[in-house]
Amino acid sequence: MYKDFTRELVIDFDPRHRRSRSGIFFVVSGPSGVGKNTLLSYVLPKIEGIYYLPSLTTRPMRPGERQGFPYYFVSKETFEELIRKGAFLEWKRIHTGDYYGTHLQTILYALENGFDIITDMDVLGCQEVRRRFPHRVITIFLVPPDREELARRLSQREKDGELIEKRLARWDMERKYIDSYHHVIVNDQLERAGQELLAILGSYTQPEGEEG
Ligand code: 5GP
Repeated sequence: MYKDFTRELVIDFDPRHRRSRSGIFFVVSGPSGVGKNTLLSYVLPKIEGIYYLPSLTTRPMRPGERQGFPYYFVSKETFEELIRKGAFLEWKRIHTGDYYGTHLQTILYALENGFDIITDMDVLGCQEVRRRFPHRVITIFLVPPDREELARRLSQREKDGELIEKRLARWDMERKYIDSYHHVIVNDQLERAGQELLAILGSYTQPEGEEG
């Protein structure tokens, strides 16, 4: 699937999901391996009208991933051209130097047109978007039960010990930002953490008095 990211949005919004207020931008942070994608895949089908906003990245696709979820996978050349053309709200080089960036035009469209979106972003990107849209951004930090459990989850996915160490070291940096987030969820058990996330999202998006 090819998209011209200089012109097209990364989400196809359904006008039925338009709210009669500005859109809300939910940002989920958490270390690599904490289970963000699994949690989002569990929660998103259970809540209508919150769109997952895929970032663009140059990192290789992993098993179980596809074009558009959790990312649009593009080449380094394409990504750098998009940077030059101002296509990103923010972008970062993370871990092994791969690029990750958030598509500016889609966010502006969503916020202005009353669509709620949720995306995954590292702690530094999260600080930036919060400064840019102080009244529209709700931040959620997903944390592992403890560092040992994170190391265990990372080693299931990654065999290269050096890469695991890099990701754990990044977690030691990221955890210092926890207190600046609106909500913190411990990802100890998928269903429990999922229900907590659903309750948080619902508390902002469900009109008062409406159930479900
Ligand atoms: P992973 O490669 O494990 O999917 O993600 C690595 C890191 O990149 C995670 O911390 C994730 O939150 C972050 N990330 C994903 N998309 C973006 C983005 O668009 N901007 C920023 N700043 N970080 C991102």
